[in-house]
This record gives sequence, structure tokens and C-alpha cells, in this order.
Amino acid sequence: MIDEGYIKYRCQLIEGCPPDWEMIQTLDSWRNLFYDSGLIGQYPDGIGYGNVSQRDRNPNNFIISGTKTGAIPRLRAEHYTRVIDYDPDKNAVTCEGLIQASSETLTHGAIYNSNPAIKAVFHVHHRQLWESLLYEVPTTRKDIAYGTPEMARELINISRENSDKESLIVAMSGHEEGVIAFGTSLEKAGNLLIDFYRGLTIY
Ligand SMILES: [Zn+2]
Repeated sequence: MIDEGYIKYRCQLIEGCPPDWEMIQTLDSWRNLFYDSGLIGQYPDGIGYGNVSQRDRNPNNFIISGTKTGAIPRLRAEHYTRVIDYDPDKNAVTCEGLIQASSETLTHGAIYNSNPAIKAVFHVHHRQLWESLLYEVPTTRKDIAYGTPEMARELINISRENSDKESLIVAMSGHEEGVIAFGTSLEKAGNLLIDFYRGLTIY
């Protein structure tokens, strides 16, 4: 939940072509695996969770799954959108495509900004995974809510402190069940996340 008092998130959508399917095929295969593993989905109250992104050919941009797509088992190109401008301090995003980017987009943008080598960011929810990771891996502070400028700054710091690593997983203590993984390729970020997930003992 975003606490009151924060600048309201704004997303400007410029209607345009969705990203080429060819370009996002691998991103989408990871998203399918996360969906099938329950790492992306929808809570019983109808709120969707989880989003995936990759840096675009133009390294200033990135492509992210659109808002309210968590419940959709298989996405199409029009469910992805290209983020062409973002400002964590103003809590504002501009995207191009057919769907708005989620309010969690700024956290992805902050990570891309923190290190030009990062090519992929995955944000998922999973209670057991989250509990197993809290304070065992880099963990964002409890008083920081997801989608806020503070979370963006916190992740920039964590990312820069770990810029020697090819992939990193972060637990978000102030964002219930929230985990974020990123890396220098889709495979590196995805494999790290799935390895932790598969390492869980689920009863
Ligand atoms: Zn989340």
C-alpha cells in the first residue's frame, strides 16, 4: 500500500504500437514461469501482483508488463508497454503502447538508473519466499512502502552497493510478500529468483 502523504503516482500513456513480440518473447517466457509458480497472480480480493521488465534497445527506456495484468495467465504484446520517461522524485512515468505501466514501474526505473549493466528486473510476491529471504539477503527498510520515491532511492543504494554482482535478489520488508530480482540479463535475474524459489521447502 502506498501511504498517504506521498505525491500521487501519475502515468501518462502515449498511444502507440506495443513492443515487438520478437523482442519480448524471452521476457514473456520468464513471466509465464513466474505466473505458473504463483509468483505473479491475483489475490482473492482481486488485486493483481507481480511485474517484469527488460531494458529496451534504447538504453534510456525499458519495457514492462502493464498495470492490472497479474491475473492474466498468458500475455500478448499489447499487455506490455514501453517506459520512455520516469522521475521517481515526481512519482511520474510516461509510457508508449496500449496499456499504462504499473505504479511499481518507478522501482524498476530506479534500478535501471542505478547501474547501466542491469538489463532485467522482476518483481514478484510469495509469502514463503519473502519470509525465507528477509534479512538473509539485502532487505529494504520496513518503513518504506513499495512504489514510493523512498523505495526507489533505497533500491538505488542496494543496487550500487552490489554492482560487482551479475544478479541480486532483494526482500522488501515494508512490502508484504514482495521480492525483487535483477541482473545483467533476463537469464541471470530469472535463474537467481527461480533457484531461491525452488530451494523452498513447501509443505
Ligand atoms: Zn508488489
